[in-house]
Amino acid sequence: MANSYTLLADLKAGRCSNTAEIRLLRFWEARNLNKNNQLMSIDMLLIDEDSTLVQGSIPASFHQTFRSRMSEGSLYRISVFDVTRSSTKYRLSDAPVAIRFNEATDFQKQLTITRQIPTEFFRFQPFDQIRGLANSGKQLPDVIGELRVLKSTITDRLPGAPRVMLTIRMASDDEVCVSLFDALAIAFHDKFAAYGKEPKIVIITSINPKIVRGRSLYLNGTSATRVFFDCETTAGKEVYNRQVLPGGGADQEGSSSKVVHAQKIEPLTIKELNDFVLTGEPQIIEFICTATITGVQLDDGWCYIGCSICPKKLQREESSFTCVSCNLPNAVAELRYRVVFSVSDATGTAAFVGFDKEVAKLTNVLASEAAQIVGIGAHAAVDTDLPRSLAAVVDRTYTFQLKLTDFNFSPNHQTFTISRIFPARQLAPNPTFAEGEGTTAAAVPDDTGAASGTTETNSGKVVMQPIAPTNPLGVLDLSGEEGFETEGNPPKKTRLG
Ligand SMILES: [Zn+2]
Repeated sequence: MANSYTLLADLKAGRCSNTAEIRLLRFWEARNLNKNNQLMSIDMLLIDEDSTLVQGSIPASFHQTFRSRMSEGSLYRISVFDVTRSSTKYRLSDAPVAIRFNEATDFQKQLTITRQIPTEFFRFQPFDQIRGLANSGKQLPDVIGELRVLKSTITDRLPGAPRVMLTIRMASDDEVCVSLFDALAIAFHDKFAAYGKEPKIVIITSINPKIVRGRSLYLNGTSATRVFFDCETTAGKEVYNRQVLPGGGADQEGSSSKVVHAQKIEPLTIKELNDFVLTGEPQIIEFICTATITGVQLDDGWCYIGCSICPKKLQREESSFTCVSCNLPNAVAELRYRVVFSVSDATGTAAFVGFDKEVAKLTNVLASEAAQIVGIGAHAAVDTDLPRSLAAVVDRTYTFQLKLTDFNFSPNHQTFTISRIFPARQLAPNPTFAEGEGTTAAAVPDDTGAASGTTETNSGKVVMQPIAPTNPLGVLDLSGEEGFETEGNPPKKTRLG
């Protein structure tokens, strides 16, 4: 038996009694987040001397038999196992088959093996290909690049679920944002702290690419994700050496840290807010302000006809709508909120403008439920009567998070844009991250969960990391309220995501 070694590339579906010599590259727990985080299996990546990468899986029912023997990077002899077809979802290898342990599987660690088996293997893909995989659930590729920005709720001691966001510059010069949640964020943080310096090159394995709001590409960590810094891998070392040496210095950007810290959001009264835009330097800054809604200004209506794909206002053609932003003729229209609230507190009055998502959350009624678009293009009309759901918020007091941009400091300034609305008298504001110039917007899942990890209970066997619950005060939320660029406010390209 010891003489008949099987190559992973030669495996055929069915029970295999031959022996394979392999290296256990990585293993992780696949848990079902929908079923109380129940362990489904221990999953792994195995590689042989021919660099054939195969996914393996130990059903939860007998994982204890093998668990104590498993160590990443070690060599094993494995025999008596089932060979199954690879899942077509969340693939981590290109092999057509996968290995499934059974009760009779013999899995023995070897201290030495005569053959050479690679110690690492990555499935890097170029930016365009990763983008092409977004939202498809087909593959979990690996990514390598230069670390540009690091944001961490752990470093900043922010409450709520731990999150780490890395902006990575890929070889194509494209920047992508990698989000790591919960246990993965903590593992990253521990590794980062132990590393003692900021890594220049990072490898992140098994990421799930998602495109949010039709534009920004986010790479979300999964249970199978591992992070490697600089020269910890041969692949990383190669890039590290290439990137550092030609420029003649490792520190082309000086000694500036890539860690971007959260910005504390100060509470202001309305008077302080009004004074600030009169006397302050133009800047992008957020404040919170607790005020009572005294009315809804209806000069420009309470809604606009927006694009169903992006939040921009549609251009009216003779008999159709065009979305300039999506470069889409015959765009599908969707009614969206743009509501100017008159607000006041003990110190003064102001106008706060709220856009679709926040107003819908406030009223629990979508704009499209509150009124209908009648007609199309130049003939489109919307009932401009104030919906009851909106009238109901008058006289109520809320805590508003406001985002000021350069425009607020100009003489044309009339309104403050609301980025969030909270019940009044909430606890002290949590800090949030400032938007850094030249950085991709943070990869925070939006409330629809579009960017978040999902649970796969199918045969894919890769269970994504749980998504962090929505933070009450929008910690780290830079997901971008793109709808703000409508009528009154000129587009501000501060959001580079
Ligand atoms: Zn659009």
